[in-house]
Amino acid sequence: MTMRDGEKPAVHGSLFVVSAPSGGGKRTVLRKVLDRDGKAEYGVSATTRPPRPGEVEGQDYFFLSQDEFQRRIKAGEFVEWADVHGNLYGTLRSELKRVTASGRDVFLELDVQGMRNLRNAGIDAVSIFIMPPSLDALEARLRGRGTNDERDIAVRMRNAEAELDARKEFDYVVINDDVDTAVADVEAIVRARRLESARQP
Ligand code: 5GP
Repeated sequence: MTMRDGEKPAVHGSLFVVSAPSGGGKRTVLRKVLDRDGKAEYGVSATTRPPRPGEVEGQDYFFLSQDEFQRRIKAGEFVEWADVHGNLYGTLRSELKRVTASGRDVFLELDVQGMRNLRNAGIDAVSIFIMPPSLDALEARLRGRGTNDERDIAVRMRNAEAELDARKEFDYVVINDDVDTAVADVEAIVRARRLESARQP
């Protein structure tokens, strides 16, 4: 789902959309990139998924009830939203505005539908797909996390196979075999984008 025409946010910084199959390790990579980069920030999504242990409201996600999420869809508060693994996730217009108003770059962590919805809405974003080295590695990571039950892991693995196929639609693909290399790769993409943006007066 996307925003209506004429409602595109005034983005001053660049927008980076990062997708990866669940368990692809994108959180770890993004955290490291953002820790070292003073000019970029993480855009916090809203979700109806219950918080995992240690997750903080407003920092990891804005945790909303089904009713509240639906109310906000109707009120047009989302730039995009999607049903991912049976829960709703979305990017709040207010969150995008908060970051871009400061002129900083924003990193959004979206599923593939979210990337497509932004693209179809004509929103300019650099899209990065983070690949696990293999499906086996992905499953091992999901199990290692210890917070997903068997049924959830099966759903996420099925979705992962379809998501891996979608990598062709992204501007860049980063393989997350070694975290430091993946971080350096994402930093190279960010750096290139900033040099490209510098063409504009
Ligand atoms: P998790 O439940 O593991 O935190 O996230 C599950 C998936 O939801 C992730 O793969 C992530 O890319 C996706 N996701 C998180 N926030 C958003 C969002 O705002 N919009 C969309 N479309 N997907 C999101």
